[in-house]
Amino acid sequence: MGVDTAAGHSWAERSRQAVWHPCTQMKVHTQFPPRAIVSAQGPWLIDDQGHRILDAVSSWWVNLFGHNFGPIREAIVDQLGKLDHIMLAGLTHPPVVELSERLSALTGLGHAFYASDGASATEIALKMSAHSWRNRGRPQKNQFIGLQGGYHGETAGALSVTDIPLFREAYAPLLRLSATLPSPAFVDTPVAIDALGAYLAAHHEHTAALILEPLVQGAAGMAMYSPDYLLAVRRLCDQYEVHWIADEIAVGFGRTGTMFAHQQAVAPSGAAVKPDFICLSKGLTGGVMALSAVLTTDAVYAAFWDDRTTHGFLHSHSYTGNPLACCAALAVLDTFAQRDADGQDVLARNAVAAQRLTELTAPLSRHPRIKAARHIGMIWAWDVDTSEPTFAARYHRAALDAGLLLRPIGSTLYMMPPYVLTEDEQRFLADGALQVLDQVLAEVDQLPDAQGPIVPVP
Ligand SMILES: *Cc1c(COP(=O)(O)O)cnc(C)c1O
Repeated sequence: MGVDTAAGHSWAERSRQAVWHPCTQMKVHTQFPPRAIVSAQGPWLIDDQGHRILDAVSSWWVNLFGHNFGPIREAIVDQLGKLDHIMLAGLTHPPVVELSERLSALTGLGHAFYASDGASATEIALKMSAHSWRNRGRPQKNQFIGLQGGYHGETAGALSVTDIPLFREAYAPLLRLSATLPSPAFVDTPVAIDALGAYLAAHHEHTAALILEPLVQGAAGMAMYSPDYLLAVRRLCDQYEVHWIADEIAVGFGRTGTMFAHQQAVAPSGAAVKPDFICLSKGLTGGVMALSAVLTTDAVYAAFWDDRTTHGFLHSHSYTGNPLACCAALAVLDTFAQRDADGQDVLARNAVAAQRLTELTAPLSRHPRIKAARHIGMIWAWDVDTSEPTFAARYHRAALDAGLLLRPIGSTLYMMPPYVLTEDEQRFLADGALQVLDQVLAEVDQLPDAQGPIVPVP
């Protein structure tokens, strides 16, 4: 460990030479090299110098139960001795069958279709929706709607329903852009509902689906909105025969307090509303293996049921339904299903932990330079009063030095920790985040007036 003396260069330097890092202007690494992590345990990352860093963003929102979590590790190791990987066309295997059955029981949607990452899940849902209308003799229903500030991944189809200019602008000429409607995270809910109603009234004949992130628009800076909007989405999508795709890639698996975020939208009858498609990834394997899934209704599935090959959904990825990844996901579902000695499950324990972290971060919420604080489930966000474009990068670096992995999005500081922090670790996080804020604000307040806009990189 430590410096690789054979090459005479640190891991960070070798990485800078050999690895093209995601979501990164590589030139920045000349001055600020990436941190080399050599091991991890629970919420702690250990770098090649032996420093401990608390992973307060769950490594880009994927990790649920900490790193090196026993049940997931054991499930993968056990499966590795039985069956590593097989193609899923013409073949099947127990882990993928069991996972599909259990996801269906949890969501009320079924026919699980698998890929390896979130963006691919988005692509699959969009293609399935449009293809199902085509198979139903309505090929003109092939346009999509996204929400202002929405994020659904970075492959071309996913980018075309993403409204984050930073990610989309350079590739706009390559994309078939969708309609972008006002988001209830940024306008009053009734205004957003009226805008959707008016759009659908005019364009439903050409619209296949509306895609959105239920309750929290992560990449927009943890922008949050009321479940009332989702009730209206269900009603309007039914009225105008348009699919609703719920992108639960970030908010699924307990992040918002319920297993899935859309389940917080409850109709007056008491029934939770159901989307036509659910996209899952990130927490699906507890942040350990690359896996995503798309679930849909019997009606959509039936639209592909035919003697003609071309009416089938002929999409595929080499690693579709990888057995090791499915076993990791099964271990995650087992963990959610278990109760501790006090009869509490993960969601109940999270509710207690969330209350405590909310209290511990109250001084941060009350800080004079915090313009707005918001919280849902296991996600917290604070808008910082600064227009300094380098705020997020400076905060990220200062936090690492203080033993915290935090990456503000623009001027929004947020926490999305794994569900396993002890009270002491929560206090370390809350106190550290506040201290780093003061330190970084003192630093940026010394700078000459900000040049250029804030670039919000998640
Ligand atoms: C991360 C994310 C995606 C994309 O997932 P990848 O695995 O990064 O491709 C899509 N939608 C949402 C809401 C996400 O947060």
